[in-house]
Amino acid sequence: MHKDTLLATSGCTPEDHRGVVNTPVYRGSTILFESLADFEKAESGQWAHPIYGRYGTRSNEELENTLAKLEGADHAIVLSSGMAAIAASLLAFVKSGDHILMVDNTYAPARRFCDHELKKCGVEVTYYDPTIGAAIAALIKPNTKVVYLESPGSLTFEVQDVPAIAKAAHEKGCIVIGDNTWGTPYFMDAFALGIDISLHSATKYISGHSDLLMGTLACKNEHYTMLLRTARNLGACASADNCYLAQRGLRTMAVRLKQHFENGLTVAKWLQARPEVEKVLHPALPDHAGHALWKRDFSGACGLFSVVLKDAVPHDKLAAMLDNLQYFGMGYSWGGYESLIIPFNPKKIRTATQWPHDGQALRIHIGLENPDDLIRDLEQGLKRLR
Ligand code: PLP
Repeated sequence: MHKDTLLATSGCTPEDHRGVVNTPVYRGSTILFESLADFEKAESGQWAHPIYGRYGTRSNEELENTLAKLEGADHAIVLSSGMAAIAASLLAFVKSGDHILMVDNTYAPARRFCDHELKKCGVEVTYYDPTIGAAIAALIKPNTKVVYLESPGSLTFEVQDVPAIAKAAHEKGCIVIGDNTWGTPYFMDAFALGIDISLHSATKYISGHSDLLMGTLACKNEHYTMLLRTARNLGACASADNCYLAQRGLRTMAVRLKQHFENGLTVAKWLQARPEVEKVLHPALPDHAGHALWKRDFSGACGLFSVVLKDAVPHDKLAAMLDNLQYFGMGYSWGGYESLIIPFNPKKIRTATQWPHDGQALRIHIGLENPDDLIRDLEQGLKRLR
């Protein structure tokens, strides 16, 4: 079955809901048992259905089943945010005295989780160059348990050689966790590339409408028990309402992503030709350093990329550009239908690698507006920089 068909059909059980196409929202904390025998089964872990709202209701189950199928995994778990998924995936597989390898360009709060929470628990963290490839083998120590990837990084867009890193990690018995939010489960097959735990901020394209927070984890049978246990113990469950919205988001994810891909590339190419621009960091552009890896490992690109301007921009000029854009909002997150732009400076957050640019960097999310309008808006904005 093609992914498009799966997205349109999975989790539809109208026969269970008097013909209603979409599964209703199963809000619930208490779930009643019909007999002491059933209750005792639940107590001893023998009950196949949800036993308490925090462990998920049918709303969660149907979404998790869809996501597992989409990712080619045995299981998926939905959590209250992408950050909760990051925390659960790391905590599931490390203990005091262990070591992890964390990619240097990772999502900044994931880095803070390592530096504050993991280090506090006695877990050693080494940051590595995202372009390291198979040479990661040299960084793996006897106590290394996890190699964590984010490809491409969501600010600076280095594409990692995921199969090479995963092979080296597996040879030394490490678990490979990948934040695949940019690649999405539609454009990327995480398990085919060697990732063991596939992580998404469903807040982005799975939701697609900037109206919910959610994280997802997918894995094969061998990692499920540990992952589920930690996810449950963190109590970071996804609400039934958000599961409903995420399932609805999945229905249109394929068509939205194809449009984000096309619109994003149109705007990226236009920016490339601008005199103010030093570099456009978009993996689907042939001159991108990670283009060959992107072509090999992804079947498309979402709407998120960055641009580096030739010069450092005076603060008032940057404000003149950004404050007066008509269609681009200034805000964190991405993956919704709307276009966004934020300035950033990776120099402040890296330790293993150096950001080679001095010009002003901007991260852009291209939404579903007509790209001609977006280009006109950016053109006016760039004029205000002068
Ligand atoms: N991973 C990436 C690449 C992100 O950009 C984000 C959020 O921006 C997250 C994870 C965290 O997701 P959430 O905001 O759902 O906690």
